Amino acid sequence: MPRLPEISEMITKLVALPSVSSVDARFDQGNAGVIEQVAEWADALSMRLTRMPMPGAKDKLNLIATLGEGEGGLVLSGHADTVPFDEAGWQQDPFKATLTSDRIVGLGTADMKSFFAVALQALSDIDVKKLKAPVIIVATADEESSMAGARALVKAGVPRARHAVIGEPTSLIPVRMHKGAIMEAVKLIGQSGHSSDPSLGRNALEGMHRVIAVLLSYRDELVRLHRNENFVVPTPTMNLGAIHGGDSPNRICAECELRFDLRPLPGMDVQAHRKEIRARVTQAVDGLGLKVEWKAEHGGTPAFETPESAEIVRAAAELTGAEPTSAMFGTEAPYMTELGMQTIVLGPGDIAQAHQPNEYIRLDALAPAVRVIRSLVHRFCAP
Ligand SMILES: [Zn+2]
Repeated sequence: MPRLPEISEMITKLVALPSVSSVDARFDQGNAGVIEQVAEWADALSMRLTRMPMPGAKDKLNLIATLGEGEGGLVLSGHADTVPFDEAGWQQDPFKATLTSDRIVGLGTADMKSFFAVALQALSDIDVKKLKAPVIIVATADEESSMAGARALVKAGVPRARHAVIGEPTSLIPVRMHKGAIMEAVKLIGQSGHSSDPSLGRNALEGMHRVIAVLLSYRDELVRLHRNENFVVPTPTMNLGAIHGGDSPNRICAECELRFDLRPLPGMDVQAHRKEIRARVTQAVDGLGLKVEWKAEHGGTPAFETPESAEIVRAAAELTGAEPTSAMFGTEAPYMTELGMQTIVLGPGDIAQAHQPNEYIRLDALAPAVRVIRSLVHRFCAP
């Protein structure tokens, strides 16, 4: 009797288990359903299971499932959560996967529940006695919101292995670098008053004018100093994304908030840039009598790069026949790197389908992914 259901059945079951994560509490859900389903199948493959609950969060946890033991080894990692969905855009229930002749449609099919089915399928015929090093499936919480799951792994110092694959949808093209990201909100708080007499108030909107000038000049500086031709957009970017303040032309604006992001290249320290930006902004509004409040909307994901010469990069290139490249999107890869693993991002499905209504994975993407993952396991765990 087979130890696992058919791969498409596994994907359908995972899609049916809601695991939306969001910084907006109205949409946020736990991921325990997905974790327990993956755990059940991993258990059927005789993997050893460790559950890591997220402190202070209900029904959110990481799963670490290990087969074999020894030094080195390979981690196959994915996030168990999905983004929220836009109901109006979907032509079907996002949690009720539909199987057509060429695809499975459902929330999280591409990003990235299918990868768990692929990884489990790849391990289903491994003879554990032949393993010289462990193969470890990791399923994380909150990748789409706070990266809390990946951060918890780093804090706990697990898992330990030499190599890692993050199975995000890369159309099975190995990705060895991506940019980082920080997202910030800065709020200036002054004092309202009648516009006829500026001395009655302190204008937050005028203060924000200085803040924007400082941010744009910092951006120019970054673009001048940093460049990496491996990226489609070869420089760091900063986007001023939203601004809100004031209420009427004849009232001194008391509060103004600006939200922006910064996407640094590999080698740039995100937290150091965050600190520098905050210092410059504070200095720019000095003397205006405005209070400055900061909110890190996103804790900050480091950029990620694994050298072209790394064994995992070469192996993935050879097995897929594809040139390793860079990605525009962020992943949990920098956390795996921090844990000491040489890491690539490589998985079935197309990122263009991620975070979209009617998200799908093509059926013909699955078998090649199983083959590549299985070969990587053989190479790194059962040489
Ligand atoms: Zn993803």
